[in-house]
Amino acid sequence: MIDTLRLTAEEATGLVERGEVSGAELHRAYLDAIAERDPELHAYLCTVDEPDGEGVPIALKDVISTRGVETTAASKILAGYKPVYDATVAARCKAAGLPLLGKTNLDEFAMGSSTENSAYGPTHNPWDPNRVPGGSSGGSTAAVAAGLAPWALGSDTGGSIKQPASLCGVVGLRPTYGTVSRYGIVAFASSLDQVGPIAKTVRDCALLHRIIAGRDPLDSTTVELPEPIELPQAEDLKGLRVGVPKELNEADGIEPGVSEAVNRTIELARELGAEVGECSLPRSVEFGLPCYYLIAPSEASSNLARYDGVRYGLRVGNGDIRAMYERTRDAGFGDEPKRRIMLGTYALSAGYYDAYYGQAQKVRTLIRDEFRAALDQFDLLVSPTSPTVAFPLGAKTDNPLAMYLSDVLAIPPNMAGLPGLSIPCGLSDGLPVGLQLIGPQFSENLLFRAGHALEQALAFDYVPTRLK
Ligand code: GLN
Repeated sequence: MIDTLRLTAEEATGLVERGEVSGAELHRAYLDAIAERDPELHAYLCTVDEPDGEGVPIALKDVISTRGVETTAASKILAGYKPVYDATVAARCKAAGLPLLGKTNLDEFAMGSSTENSAYGPTHNPWDPNRVPGGSSGGSTAAVAAGLAPWALGSDTGGSIKQPASLCGVVGLRPTYGTVSRYGIVAFASSLDQVGPIAKTVRDCALLHRIIAGRDPLDSTTVELPEPIELPQAEDLKGLRVGVPKELNEADGIEPGVSEAVNRTIELARELGAEVGECSLPRSVEFGLPCYYLIAPSEASSNLARYDGVRYGLRVGNGDIRAMYERTRDAGFGDEPKRRIMLGTYALSAGYYDAYYGQAQKVRTLIRDEFRAALDQFDLLVSPTSPTVAFPLGAKTDNPLAMYLSDVLAIPPNMAGLPGLSIPCGLSDGLPVGLQLIGPQFSENLLFRAGHALEQALAFDYVPTRLK
């Protein structure tokens, strides 16, 4: 019997390598788990019956192009679209022998923090199906938490790996901007989008990151990693200087139960030998979110111009081409993409560009400099990943600003191009709390090392209580 709720990807790799289980048997075990639990959770938009590799299977967020397998970005406008090529990250997983289990649900075009913006219905949190899994990579994090995939890929523009990882009690890495190829990823905000790994353990994340990261000639924003990704072993934090940015840890709206779990973990870091000190990021936390909500919609308004009924998916009407564009976009896009297209088009329009997009880019430079100064003093910074635990479905759907605030702690380091790792660090009201570890650019090995040491000491049980 394969217990998909407990089995880590590393253990599964061992089973396959020792010939104890075949890749096909593993694939079947996950499909059986999906058949049993996914009707309640809706983590998947589609599954793949025949494994196309002999290794440990993987689930991919449905913004990742997969040759011959429908790729919708959870939008009606891409319904029926089957890419003719694989995204580089999908190709790398394939080359490493990881068969595709299926494509996971998300907020339409990765715009959202709860997976409720999917045009195909929301995903539910495996810890409590009345609550959201976070978003936008909520399908991938719910699949991993519920044992419906050993590991998965998500994408993170403004928190979409870290925040749902936090709400589902799994580990997620948003890599340094430029270390993972965006070739074949449905573009949202190109100066921020990064694909990253989601898994039950930090070591699983490192194994998967090793497969996907590195320069890709098909994405000119990628670079060679300065050092290979290592599997973390360390059990302590000796010699590490850990900074606790005041504003990221005391922001309005952080639930007391979240602060308690994070503070206990900071204390644990000290016991493991870290030198812990306070620091400050006054502008990053105050301006990170507003600055993101100018830059991300601006870039989205440009990226989404390509969905016009001509090249992909849905087409509504014929005859007059302008009318066809309008009808297709009106019928194909949901409310949130429409809101972002309007915001972004306004911010980029002649006469307003300098005041909005240009100004936001300048503020972005200030945020980068502020993080750089803090990371001169400390090796890494810590904070809650999300101010709250998983919230009930529907709680924020009528209030976009309340929804946007879910990422107030996850967004600032993204604006600076920095990597962030979220690990589960305890429960509050029976729901997982995530700790965000932020490091300098290219510090993934350090984040994995610190995350692994904390994970060992915390001994968090990633199997959702109600599924035990
Ligand atoms: N929740 C944020 C947004 O709606 C981030 C989304 C993301 O990272 N893809 O834009």
